[in-house]
Amino acid sequence: MELEQLQNISTPCYVCEEELLEKNLKLLDYVQKESGAKIILALKGFAMWSTFPLVSQYLKGCTSSGLYEARLAREEFCKHNPHAEVHTYSPAYKDEDIDEIAKISDHIVFNSPSQLFKYKERIKEINPHAELSLRINPEVSSSPKDIYNPCGIYSRLGTTLANFTKETKGFDEEVLKHIDGLNFHALCEQNVDALEEVLVAFEEKFSKYFKGLKYINFGGGHHITKEGYDVEKLIRIIKAFREKYDVEVYLEPGEAVGWQTGFLVATVLDVFHNGMDVAILDTSAEAHMPDTLAMPYRADVRGSGEAGEKPYTYRLGGNTCLAGDIMGDYSFDMPLKAGDKVIFEDQIHYTFVKNTTFNGIKLPSLAIYRKDGTLDVVKEFGYEDYRDRLS
Ligand SMILES: *Cc1c(COP(=O)(O)O)cnc(C)c1O
Repeated sequence: MELEQLQNISTPCYVCEEELLEKNLKLLDYVQKESGAKIILALKGFAMWSTFPLVSQYLKGCTSSGLYEARLAREEFCKHNPHAEVHTYSPAYKDEDIDEIAKISDHIVFNSPSQLFKYKERIKEINPHAELSLRINPEVSSSPKDIYNPCGIYSRLGTTLANFTKETKGFDEEVLKHIDGLNFHALCEQNVDALEEVLVAFEEKFSKYFKGLKYINFGGGHHITKEGYDVEKLIRIIKAFREKYDVEVYLEPGEAVGWQTGFLVATVLDVFHNGMDVAILDTSAEAHMPDTLAMPYRADVRGSGEAGEKPYTYRLGGNTCLAGDIMGDYSFDMPLKAGDKVIFEDQIHYTFVKNTTFNGIKLPSLAIYRKDGTLDVVKEFGYEDYRDRLS
């Protein structure tokens, strides 16, 4: 993107680069074609629906975590690709949502046998074609952080073998009568070796139930588009699995779709010294880059180095009153001054989907940098967005 274009962006603003998004989609499509798996987008991680005309050319649908994401999938994704599938999984469904979820979902995934038993008949009445599945918990994950580990101790996500087999107190036969597939989701930003480990546990515990199932959904967390991911091995594993059990395989990545497809542009508002140089930006780690605090991780800033690496080091902080609203310490070749732009790299997945209007700070605009070099600002926010979610 041209420097001049960047200078003229009204900030804060997320910029998704169409060409980079398409590059990810093409790689995911390669995996689909070579492995025979179907790949659907997890809206939790990336829900910029103005890109769905492009995304829907490659991915087979969306996975949603409840009514609102399912609606977005049905209304904004399927209109570009009428064959696209809407999968819905929720840790628990509510009576008031289930009819509409049944109407707009092709696949409905339950977290527990009790939820399946509660809603299966109602769903079939409303949508006889809906396919049902149960999310199981393979109890193996090498997720790097507890907050992102769905298989940790006392996990509320998925049904363990003990809660499934009738040898203990489970319901296997009763469940198997009603489901078309099984889901698991156990990875987070991981390479294919981690999937291999999970599959060993999953097959050991659950393969005796695969007979008659139409599909197995391997969840998300596959870091397929990250440099160094062993795509060919993933393809081999999926093919072998499909052949061994005669089932369809789904993957539902979120992060891998939005991975390294764009940035967040902010403007320096003020610079001062308090033991070290501090710069205040018109964005917020807390409100706009939440995983930098939750994970936590240090976002890359374009043209910067580690603290002390280049001549001018600053603590970059947000424009809220939260003391810890800090992106980190970064060094630059030139001094920062009010009006300078700061570009946080790779801020498209798990950012705007999590944004809040905390402290009344302006929500960043959403823009698409088109392949032809134009910048489309597809959404701008204002005071009303802050006001209207309060009362
Ligand atoms: C979050 C989530 C995904 C997507 O995970 P990524 O790490 O973004 O690939 C897929 N499936 C389920 C059930 C999830 O909760």
